[in-house]
Amino acid sequence: MLNVDLHCHSNVSDGTLTPMAVAARAKANGVDMWALTDHDEIDGIAEARAAAAALDLPYVAGVEISITWANHTIHIVGLQIDETNPQLVQGLAATRGGRERRAHEMAAQLATVGIPDAFEGALKHVGNPDLISRTHFARYLVEIGRCADTSEVFRNYLTEGNPGYVPHRWASLAQSVQWIRDAGGIAVVAHPGRYKLSDLAFDAFFSEFKQLGGAAIEVMTGSHTPDQYDYYAKVASRYGFLASRGSDFHSPAESRVDLGALPPLPDSVTPVWHNW
Ligand code: AMP
Ligand code: MN
Ligand code: MN
Ligand code: MN
Repeated sequence: MLNVDLHCHSNVSDGTLTPMAVAARAKANGVDMWALTDHDEIDGIAEARAAAAALDLPYVAGVEISITWANHTIHIVGLQIDETNPQLVQGLAATRGGRERRAHEMAAQLATVGIPDAFEGALKHVGNPDLISRTHFARYLVEIGRCADTSEVFRNYLTEGNPGYVPHRWASLAQSVQWIRDAGGIAVVAHPGRYKLSDLAFDAFFSEFKQLGGAAIEVMTGSHTPDQYDYYAKVASRYGFLASRGSDFHSPAESRVDLGALPPLPDSVTPVWHNW
């Protein structure tokens, strides 16, 4: 059974390690096939690919696109993409475009609850000025002692109903799938168990994703509980989706699941990599 990890982050988005260091950690952990999937950004791919080649680690070009569907933020992973495709490059640039303004609004809200200068504080944790994210604010709130760790931050700040939450409109589902397909890639629903959708809404979402040409969902992800591994394996079978496996690793200090550390996919599903 191959140890495949097709979802993780470097400091080109909200991970803490460079693409090269993520590649080295994947190799050291026994990963046999690896994709870096930074949020809305393909800038780490050249370094990741070169590092993987030097380590003799089979590499898959990837990205994780933020979208808004029925007022919910959802993430769509693209795998086997041509990261030079102009539609994809322009789409991701547009998706990143609103992040700085959003970050200023987040900082303004945090100032009203006694946390000044959070924009500058978050920026100290940013590896790529084009990609300031809630994770960087979370790290700043830990740094100044507001919260013990980033999970505590996301329970009390930066999330819906809490200080520092700024609603944001990302790309559409149709756009994300189109950009990925334009780039010759495969569209995968990231960590479906994280979204607070009703059964009815999930059915509408999966049906629309399928109809747009979406091909797979993550079954084994660091965000799922063991019950959700079983549940989303059944969902994959029901809709005829391929199944993916990825840790969603961000940082040695923060991530619950390390690179390559998830259980294997269940036998009942077809791996997204089965005919690569
Ligand atoms: P953004 O794209 O700026 O909205 O930031 C989203 C990122 O914040 C996700 O990719 C996660 O890395 C992190 N995040 C969001 N919610 C949580 C949570 N509840 N616990 C830990 N990390 C979270
Ligand atoms: Mn993230
Ligand atoms: Mn995600
Ligand atoms: Mn992710």
